[in-house]
Amino acid sequence: MIPAVRGTRDILPGEVEKWQRLERVSRDLCERYGYLEVRTPIIEREELFAKGTGEATDIVQKEMYSFVDKGGDRVTLRPEATPSIVRAFIEHSLEQTLAFPKLYSIGPMFRYERPQKGRYRQFHQLDVEVFGVKDPAIDAEVIDLAFTLVRELGIGDVELVINSVGDHVCRPAFDKALVEALGQNVSKLCSDCQRRAQTNPLRIFDCKVPADQPIIDALPHSVDYLCAECREHFEAVQRHLTAAGMPFRVSHRLVRGLDYYTRTTFEILGASLGAQNALLGGGRYDGLVKQLGGPDRVGIGFAVGLDRMVLAMPDQPPERGTNGVFVAAVGDDARDAAIALLADLRRSGVRAQMEFGARGVKAQMKRADRLGVTHAIIVGGDELSRGEVTVKDMTTGDQAAVPRSQIVKFLASGLRPQVPQP
Ligand code: AMP
Repeated sequence: MIPAVRGTRDILPGEVEKWQRLERVSRDLCERYGYLEVRTPIIEREELFAKGTGEATDIVQKEMYSFVDKGGDRVTLRPEATPSIVRAFIEHSLEQTLAFPKLYSIGPMFRYERPQKGRYRQFHQLDVEVFGVKDPAIDAEVIDLAFTLVRELGIGDVELVINSVGDHVCRPAFDKALVEALGQNVSKLCSDCQRRAQTNPLRIFDCKVPADQPIIDALPHSVDYLCAECREHFEAVQRHLTAAGMPFRVSHRLVRGLDYYTRTTFEILGASLGAQNALLGGGRYDGLVKQLGGPDRVGIGFAVGLDRMVLAMPDQPPERGTNGVFVAAVGDDARDAAIALLADLRRSGVRAQMEFGARGVKAQMKRADRLGVTHAIIVGGDELSRGEVTVKDMTTGDQAAVPRSQIVKFLASGLRPQVPQP
């Protein structure tokens, strides 16, 4: 047996129904908010993420699946969707071709991380991005979309956390303040934080190493260093969230693990998830489109971890009768009639199955039972010559002869046909 690659897994029948519901609700909701779907390739040039996600991030430093292809190009299995969507936005001039560049995408991502519950090497995200809108009302809109998704899936006990990390105007002063406040303590921090202090001091707030926490807790907060425009923007976002009835908490630690964020950052945390508790996260990236060679357009978006959403979603009891009906044939002579009935039922929209191979009626009924169908339709014998079939209600066990000409209409109407008492 050749097992699946570590950190990847099969999503099997039984679990896949939850994924289907999650994807259906996600698509419905995105379309309701005016977002259009894009599908970008799973492989991209490595430089897209080096430049987009950022050289100093853990993703680019440690986690990318990069390789040289047979043509000698360096390519990467995408670790996140935002750089790909920004690339597509630029490459296809989407602000010209779309009335409103509000986009979403669903698909697998790849990061070489240590696998654990809620963290995989191949995982899946719903990604939502908007380009060209500076108005803080769009920040509230995307957060509202994220919040509503979580609510419509029945996930309770969540917390919305927000922060502002400033922009190119005020961030340099805050970075400087962070380095000054750290002073001699830099050498006491973990090696990752020592590197961050050099490359992107803000990311020190991401550190989870227990020994570093007392030093990090004493550092200044980004919201106290915002320029007037960033402060105004952040206040407006908070007002809009309150107006839309979304409770939130401001956390100065929420800086997110990517280099491109400006101003608003946010996450929704799920209480049931343990250590990997971020269901989704995102924020503004006002410089990214330009940095990747596009026009100077702002952007905002978020990524939902679908694997974690599935873990947090409540189980739903399977709907009664979703497994349709079973057509059983009595003897070889009835097989063609059974096959014709099966085709009729399916073309009329009824879920229907039959048994294969020459099996007796008893074996066929056993399969029908395991499938959990509502009715078995038994074709053959004297009834067939009279233009009738036998319908058995699998719940009550009642059975009766029904005209062949009526059975399809009966089942296709969506009504559970009452089997008359014999
Ligand atoms: P990020 O792209 O890192 O901002 O992550 C956005 C969301 O994707 C997180 O909140 C998680 O829900 C999910 N996520 C990130 N990395 C993983 C992973 N390795 N396995 C499963 N889910 C992940």
